[in-house]
Amino acid sequence: GTEEPWRPFNRSRVYMADLESTLHYSLRVELAAHTVIRGNALISLKKYISVLTKYFPGRPVVMNLLRSVDSWLQNQSGGEITYEALRKILDNSAQSPDTALPEGVRWVGCQGSQPHLRRFPCGMWTLFHVLTVQAKSTSTRGTDPKEVLSAMRNYVRSFFGCRPCAEHFENMARESMVEVDSTSSAVLWLWSRHNRVNNRIAGALSEDPNFPKIQWPSPEMCSACHTVRDNGDHKWNKEQVLPFLMSYFSSNRILTDYLE
Ligand code: FAD
Repeated sequence: GTEEPWRPFNRSRVYMADLESTLHYSLRVELAAHTVIRGNALISLKKYISVLTKYFPGRPVVMNLLRSVDSWLQNQSGGEITYEALRKILDNSAQSPDTALPEGVRWVGCQGSQPHLRRFPCGMWTLFHVLTVQAKSTSTRGTDPKEVLSAMRNYVRSFFGCRPCAEHFENMARESMVEVDSTSSAVLWLWSRHNRVNNRIAGALSEDPNFPKIQWPSPEMCSACHTVRDNGDHKWNKEQVLPFLMSYFSSNRILTDYLE
């Protein structure tokens, strides 16, 4: 195929084009690998769409699409659905003028220097961070602090195409997700597990040489996030990391460049 042109972007910002591309890929490519969705996978899908409907900070047309998929799914009381039926809902909804999910992907902040690098997995992490941050900034008393993390854990377990990734992630979740007792600790949990993954896979073939795996955010991005112990060891300053994440992934800082 023809090479897409490189889209210049700011490396320290989040782009709506990546989030919408992630939704497209997740709903139209990743889920399409499952002819029939039933049992735990169907529960995972319902919860995933319902969390997106609640917290995805999307354009009105995209939110309308998510709501229409959500209400269709919640009405499916049989034990299974076919992907074909779900695809029809996605296609039909997209026919009405005020409802849409862009066809195809347009990676910006998640562009890779080669076609097999970054892209969807990068978009998935970005989406999950945005959702935990949205849940913290909009949640009221009584909301389950693990709502977003549980939904993404189940999505990953049921559908994420990279099966070794899903297995690693499930192990981390089983090990320490119980400790999450507030929407703040959910934001920090996802950040610290993402750094563990960065640490584990730094230098692997899946690493884009132009986007090396680091313990994130770098001191250049947030110097106050980093402190040094008396013995010289590095220590995160979580009182600073939390507000940094809340601002970095906040809905009103998401850039809308390159949208259709
Ligand atoms: P990514 O790690 O995808 O990160 C995307 C962006 O998020 C970065 O560019 C940066 O801006 C920001 N970011 C980086 N670190 C953090 C952080 N700690 N907190 C908040 N934001 C951050 N690959 C494997 O090879 N093995 C695995 O086991 C594996 N498990 C995965 C599990 C999950 C749930 C997911 C979504 C992906 C997994 N991957 C795994 C893929 C891998 O983590 C990367 O997504 C992929 O290599 C692309 O890397 P990237 O450079 O685009 O940055």
